Amino acid sequence: MPLTLERINAATQAEFAALLDGTYEHSPWIAERAWAQRPFKSLAQLKFALASVVREAGRDAQLALIRAHPELAGKAMVAGTLTAESTHEQGKAGLTDCTAAEFAQIQRLNADYNARFGFPFILAVRGPRGTGLAKAQIIAAFERRVANHPDFELAECLRNIHRIAEIRLNDKFGATPELGNQVWDWAEALATESDPGYQEQGQLTVTYLTPAHQACARRLQQWMRECGFDEAHIDAVGNVVGVYWGHDEAEARARHRPSPGQGSGGEGSGHSPAGDPASSRRLLTGSHYDTVRNGGKYDGRLGILVPMACVRELHRAGRRLPYGLEVIAFAEEEGQRYKATFLGSGALIGHFDEAWLAQRDADGVSMRDAMHAAGLPGTMETIRAMQRDPARYLGFVEVHIEQGPVLAELDLPLAVVTSINGGVRYQGEVIGVASHAGTTPMDRRRDAATAVAELALYLERRGSAVPDLVATMGLLEVPSGSINVVPGRCRFSLDIRATTDGVRDACAADVLAELAAICARRGLQHRLEETMRAAAAPSDPVWQARWERAVASTGLPLHRMPSGAGHDAMKLHEVMPQAMLFMRGGNAGISHNPLEEISNDDTELCVRAFQNLLELLAGGLK
Ligand SMILES: [Zn+2]
Repeated sequence: MPLTLERINAATQAEFAALLDGTYEHSPWIAERAWAQRPFKSLAQLKFALASVVREAGRDAQLALIRAHPELAGKAMVAGTLTAESTHEQGKAGLTDCTAAEFAQIQRLNADYNARFGFPFILAVRGPRGTGLAKAQIIAAFERRVANHPDFELAECLRNIHRIAEIRLNDKFGATPELGNQVWDWAEALATESDPGYQEQGQLTVTYLTPAHQACARRLQQWMRECGFDEAHIDAVGNVVGVYWGHDEAEARARHRPSPGQGSGGEGSGHSPAGDPASSRRLLTGSHYDTVRNGGKYDGRLGILVPMACVRELHRAGRRLPYGLEVIAFAEEEGQRYKATFLGSGALIGHFDEAWLAQRDADGVSMRDAMHAAGLPGTMETIRAMQRDPARYLGFVEVHIEQGPVLAELDLPLAVVTSINGGVRYQGEVIGVASHAGTTPMDRRRDAATAVAELALYLERRGSAVPDLVATMGLLEVPSGSINVVPGRCRFSLDIRATTDGVRDACAADVLAELAAICARRGLQHRLEETMRAAAAPSDPVWQARWERAVASTGLPLHRMPSGAGHDAMKLHEVMPQAMLFMRGGNAGISHNPLEEISNDDTELCVRAFQNLLELLAGGLK
């Protein structure tokens, strides 16, 4: 009999600990302390409560918890003294039948790791999909992590312990994250397409309109049809556009075509919402399917696959919403092959620069030729026709992996985005006098580099003084500098980002004033050029509140955070209300990296939050 929330909510403290026995290896105190937080309205809430107990228990208790775990393929396994759970997990990962060489390698890693950190290496060997990592993956993770900083590694062990506990709880409760598994499997299948030169090395790179990119588009289109989207087509820039009609539109189309019955995915059936007989508006959502070079499998793609899973469930249930749902897989966001970042979402708001068509990639192929090769018209007429009428849309929402460590550190799967940071960049130069390092007394110098160094320290202080503001001097160089010359010139860059344009501009103004003051005091000249300015995209308050309610319905505590990275939502922000949902990434949230990871359980919650959002919106429109 699987465990139920009802049962654990009604349990005494002792019963509760007994029911959750084995979830955290030899550490019943975690369940005992979490008991006070009943009643739990979801398994996610219980998991978070258990993780919170560990987070608040302090370093000694955390170390004891880690040390309560057996080594991988270690002495306890050989001696047959593992707990039943550990035997099962290590056996499933093939660790109980290692070759002599593998066993020796793991023993060496165990010894190195223990010597370095003083606790055993912990890895959730059932992995992010719950089905088990391969031995080679386990050894690779071991090799990589032994080089980490001790504090980071302690946190990473705890995160793996929570993942082990999560899977054990799923087993106890008979819970399978089916929706999360579906999204995870789609992402895995999509990641088999990669550009030449990367594919051979097992790396993921999908840049604009390459054969791998086109293959991704075709797969997405096919999956959208299988999910039950009413329309699924590839537009003039290569975006894959899926539409699940709202009931008005479905009824109106049924009246015009009395015997539909042709199944899903009618290509050519009214791509443009403009001029449709239906009055119902649409919710727009989506993200990008291109990748950076040697990137991860979930950046962008998660935001396409999560709403696809929602449509699949609606279609299975034979349900229509009182609004249409338009899911767009944007063809280009990363600006890798051509310098045309946000090309896919930009085209929807009329921001497609005609000059881009003539731009050439590193091999000299123009964008227009690349479009023709992909079977796209490559004309401004067809691209302009893609522009959406914002009046036909309720708003834009985007799901994205966080691409940072914040949620991993909080043990939280989801966060609601408050704003996409606005940014400003400058390139500058300070000009002093290059002079002899031996003969110029310290009080007679016109040193350009020390002036910029002063500015760098001021920038760091000013950036740290305000929450959600970041300020970086990424470039700092003395052109043709020499070991025996006082620097006469120093070039530098400034990159300032904040959740609001006001905070960003106030910081920029202070930094510029400081630069002028430093130069005046030191008797130096300076030049500064603004090279980029992007407006912050604060979330629409109404849509942000909807996401907050949607997340709260999963039983998880609410966390709000800004997005430090740019997203397609920034583009749609210019014409309609938008708000984003972030999902935690594995491996401490690393992104634009092959180690990018998501778990099926987090993804399940993400799909559920999206379903909650759709229901909230449906309720509000009735
Ligand atoms: Zn992205």
